[in-house]
Amino acid sequence: MSDSDKLNRRDFIATTAGATTVLAAGTSIAVAQQADTLGPGFDQQDPLNHYWTRPLGELVHVDYSLDAKELERPESQERHRIYSYLLMKLILRFWNGNKNGPIGSYPQRARQLDPAAPNRYRGDLNERDDRSHMAWDRYLGHNIACVAVDGLGHIIDFDFNHNAFFRSSAEHAESRLVRRLFSLTDIFDSWKTGPHVEARPHAALLSEVTLYTSLESCAQCSGVMSLAGVKQIVYMQNDFTAYKIGNIMYNLANRTPIKDKAGNPAGSVAGAPVPIPASKVGIAEFDRLNQGNLDFIKTMNDGSEPFFRSANVTDRDPSITSFLCTDAAYDIFRTGAANLDSLQLQFGNYRFPVQDPLPDDPAERALTNEECLAEARKFFEYVDIEGYRGSPHKL
Ligand SMILES: [Zn+2]
Repeated sequence: MSDSDKLNRRDFIATTAGATTVLAAGTSIAVAQQADTLGPGFDQQDPLNHYWTRPLGELVHVDYSLDAKELERPESQERHRIYSYLLMKLILRFWNGNKNGPIGSYPQRARQLDPAAPNRYRGDLNERDDRSHMAWDRYLGHNIACVAVDGLGHIIDFDFNHNAFFRSSAEHAESRLVRRLFSLTDIFDSWKTGPHVEARPHAALLSEVTLYTSLESCAQCSGVMSLAGVKQIVYMQNDFTAYKIGNIMYNLANRTPIKDKAGNPAGSVAGAPVPIPASKVGIAEFDRLNQGNLDFIKTMNDGSEPFFRSANVTDRDPSITSFLCTDAAYDIFRTGAANLDSLQLQFGNYRFPVQDPLPDDPAERALTNEECLAEARKFFEYVDIEGYRGSPHKL
């Protein structure tokens, strides 16, 4: 190709960028490739307008200095780690890897075989065999769970994925938990769940609630959490198939104006939860879970070993929910869970949000990290006996 040809070719590309010429039956048809314009009404939505012509990478990028500046502080990271370890301990407690039932062969679950019954896998891996510690053998849903913590550090509730129980693909932990929080905050209104929004009931916003979830949220859960005004979502593992939807929603959602107790304008809160990968708060299991998932996908795609095999079925689906049944995943959750018991706090006296001066009413006081840890351990003790894949609330 001569230099002039190159130039011409470049000119051609430049002048035809945004349009493709298709030749069909001797006819030229120009097909517009340009982006749609932002129509009337939509062009008044500030975040949408701002990002409309920007690259996707910019839309996905989260600026933590805006709504989660406290993440820069090691004291605050320590606080998040407490609830993250509690979440992993809850998942371990109610672990059930029998995604395709207890009978058959799961090559990646050799250590979950029932020693008392050959070719049968244990469901609930509850290690204490007594009448107070129920074993739940049926696979109710995936090993994915979520914990809600209020603005002062009190644990409100947790829930698990219940897809199998409801024969549904939408019974995810976060959306189930958010729906339940609205019911609960009407009963237990001592929880600090959010500021007052004019002409709306107390529980209109959960903008002081942090959720901890084991898997990056999908579009449904990100949507439900956005509608609920959840403050932030800390997740223990990426979901590569969730296409960063939580980040996109966080950036595109309009902010909600809020008022203080006296009814004066008090700024605004983000219109969608701040998505926080647990690596940002020092959870080592985040990278291990991601790598474990990628290794599992490779094994499934290699065709070397299936996830499950029985007389009629060979399951090689590289689904993350299958990975979350394996011994490899179980071991990572076990390490995280053990940290709840062994954790030595560096910032035991830290309380967030820092309150100066402290309120007279102890119920209004944020817990210190030491109190958060004590509450997390106590909550686990309660759930271990009273709970199942979600905690019952007794009045
Ligand atoms: Zn979801």
